[in-house]
Amino acid sequence: MTANPEQARVPVLEALRLEAESCVACALSCTRSKVVFGSGKVGAKLMFVGEAPGREEDLSGLPFVGRSGRLVMDLLRAEFGFEREQCYIANVVKCRPPANRNPKPAEITSCAHFLDRQIALVAPSLVMTLGNVATRALVSTKMGISALRGRVIEQDGYRLLPTFHPAAALRSPMGVLELMRADFRLGAELLGDLQK
Ligand code: URA
Repeated sequence: MTANPEQARVPVLEALRLEAESCVACALSCTRSKVVFGSGKVGAKLMFVGEAPGREEDLSGLPFVGRSGRLVMDLLRAEFGFEREQCYIANVVKCRPPANRNPKPAEITSCAHFLDRQIALVAPSLVMTLGNVATRALVSTKMGISALRGRVIEQDGYRLLPTFHPAAALRSPMGVLELMRADFRLGAELLGDLQK
């Protein structure tokens, strides 16, 4: 898939978006307002993977526009010097779980093919996963995010760098935000090296 020229992958990603927008494969489709497929361009070098849409994302159809998302975007600007259009942003599940509960294993499984295809079509060099749910969707591990954060994992065709979910930084003491900042700084260095 990554061997295809970028332009050829654009309509394929658009078709995948349309498929997600009419998906009724799990019960989250009954309670969603909008499907939050993802945002950004094919060929983005940096991709973020979050857990699931929250309230503001569900209403707007856009990922990372609520309080947690804004924190990620602030770190993106500060440490990478990027705006949101310069990266691709997606979640493990594309529909909001009621009351922001964690997505259930069956919901993650039925949505997984969308994320797998998004990664293949966007073909990023670096994927930053936010929190346990996102990390475990892409890495087979029983380790928790506190142990995995800041460790670079070689995946098939890209590097993966786990960090905390922004909600953890919003609800807990300063320390988490500073660790996230360090992970974003590492991500920026890594991306710089990968582009040399
Ligand atoms: N916004 C999202 O879209 N996903 C998250 O995981 C957090 C905030």
